[in-house]
Amino acid sequence: MNYKRSSALFAQAESVIPGGVNSPVRAFKAVGGTPIFVKEAKGAYLYDEDGNKLIDYINSWGPMILGHAYEPVVNAVIEKAKKGTSFGMPTEIETQIAELAVSMVPNIDKIRFVNSGTEACMSAIRLARGFTGKDKIIKFAGCYHGHSDSFLIQAGSGAITFGSPNSPGVTKGTAKDTLLAIYNDIESVKALFEANKEEIACIIIEPVAGNMGCIPPKDGFLNDLRNLCNEHNILLIFDEVMTGFRLAKGGAQELFNINADIVCFGKVIGGGLPVGAFAARNEIMNYLAPLGPVYQAGTLSGNPLAMAAGLTMLEALNNDSEVFTRLAEKTEYLHKGFTEVLNNNRINHKINRAGSMISIHFTEENVVDFETSAKGNNETFKKFFHGMLEEGVYIAPSAFETWFITDALTYDDLDFTIEAVNKVASKL
Ligand SMILES: *Cc1c(COP(=O)(O)O)cnc(C)c1O
Repeated sequence: MNYKRSSALFAQAESVIPGGVNSPVRAFKAVGGTPIFVKEAKGAYLYDEDGNKLIDYINSWGPMILGHAYEPVVNAVIEKAKKGTSFGMPTEIETQIAELAVSMVPNIDKIRFVNSGTEACMSAIRLARGFTGKDKIIKFAGCYHGHSDSFLIQAGSGAITFGSPNSPGVTKGTAKDTLLAIYNDIESVKALFEANKEEIACIIIEPVAGNMGCIPPKDGFLNDLRNLCNEHNILLIFDEVMTGFRLAKGGAQELFNINADIVCFGKVIGGGLPVGAFAARNEIMNYLAPLGPVYQAGTLSGNPLAMAAGLTMLEALNNDSEVFTRLAEKTEYLHKGFTEVLNNNRINHKINRAGSMISIHFTEENVVDFETSAKGNNETFKKFFHGMLEEGVYIAPSAFETWFITDALTYDDLDFTIEAVNKVASKL
């Protein structure tokens, strides 16, 4: 395929935007080459500036769960835009989407809307700290909760220690309040509880991890976390920015039948516009300003265009009782197909899957946490990524990302993709 125009546009962007992109992973640093500039997209397909057509397995990192330019969402946004795009005053549609979200998600009474998943997670831990009067938080190595300071912390050599900042600009003072545990390892959490008695406000976790490939929780792991939190009076935060309205109507809470104390949303909830949200029971949500002492605000929060897109998306998902089953079936179909062709080509690999999230890891070891995910062969992944691109299939330009399956994919698209993996695998 030819990427002349994309390359030229990237060069132009680089002179006025750091790295030519507004979010780092778009820059293809992990796989090499120059990023593809999108011209438009419809359903399961992207059309780039050079006229290439690609089957899309990123789908804006999740939001386009029903495909690109989904007509009801597009129309809702157009109609709203005609009536004014922002007021900084309450509008009825904010209550409508809040009521719908509260009815779809278990165990929440109130929800507040923000503008990104980052803001949702940042606000959720502030609320947890305000509510409990404690400072420290536990996160898991390899889980991503947006780019606010407290979360840019990664495991040192012995994970069960104070984190060290993962980025210049994050202070040691902030880093010392973020404790790191190992995903799927309940003992690592217990050890942190022991060492930090009475200091921990909350645990935040991706109930299915999606930012180190797709890593489902082991049987009982989330339940063990819930029990530990109950025992120690610590809040459990599910970061469902990726899994919310994707794994089930009620997200991971519903799928695994486990209640979280605070739930964060993003991605699907905005239908492709910039939206995040966090939600909890009344006793916790009433701690927020203007009712309570924990401050949180936003000039564009609850923006009418964003709410129109989100409400239309949630309605579509709520009114289709089969959609999550269909998505899971399509993903399972890919899983089976990939396994067969990769085995036929004798490629060492592991495939992880949960609902409509799936990832291929070029490793022999089961991928259950950050360490095992990092053992994947990145050279093989690079070749795989560029090979798939040549075949007309766009997957995330990093081995640490899940694929996001959209309902717009047909079984012909899935067969095409499996055959593409077959062709690429024969050359790995
Ligand atoms: C994408 C993501 C975020 C951050 O959301 P943004 O909208 O990019 O700020 C937070 N948590 C998880 C689990 C995510 O996947």
